[in-house]
Amino acid sequence: MDMVENNPAEFQRVPVRDGLLAGDLRRLDGVRLAGTRCHSCGEVSLGQNQVCLNCGGDQVSHVSLSDRGMLWSYTIVRNRPPGDYKGPDPFKPFGIGLVELPDGIRVMSPLDVEISDVQIGMPLQFRAFVQHVDAEHHEVIAFKFTGVA
Ligand SMILES: [Zn+2]
Repeated sequence: MDMVENNPAEFQRVPVRDGLLAGDLRRLDGVRLAGTRCHSCGEVSLGQNQVCLNCGGDQVSHVSLSDRGMLWSYTIVRNRPPGDYKGPDPFKPFGIGLVELPDGIRVMSPLDVEISDVQIGMPLQFRAFVQHVDAEHHEVIAFKFTGVA
């Protein structure tokens, strides 16, 4: 018996942005970033796109991106962002990195790493997580990269 199918309302999950995540959101361990690979120029872009963002070609495949990456660059956010920031309250400084994936793409992502430990070149692991519950009681799934033990 599958609780998920019996109680869909309790388990409804949505990605923080449409087309951003690949896989079954009920099983976060298997969720990956969604990507689009162009058959004409080979460009890989983030998210499920209908045309290539590089050459405009419409012969594309939707792919799951690697869950391992390397920190290419980063910045530390030391002040609470304005608007509907969903992070810890009180605010805790955090890193935002450009994470280079073996798929040939760099992705901007929050870093779940102590800011004193953040280092260019460090290996990182993708994680999907429940960021918040929205007004329709959906669990909103976002992503971050964590350090690799
Ligand atoms: Zn292209």
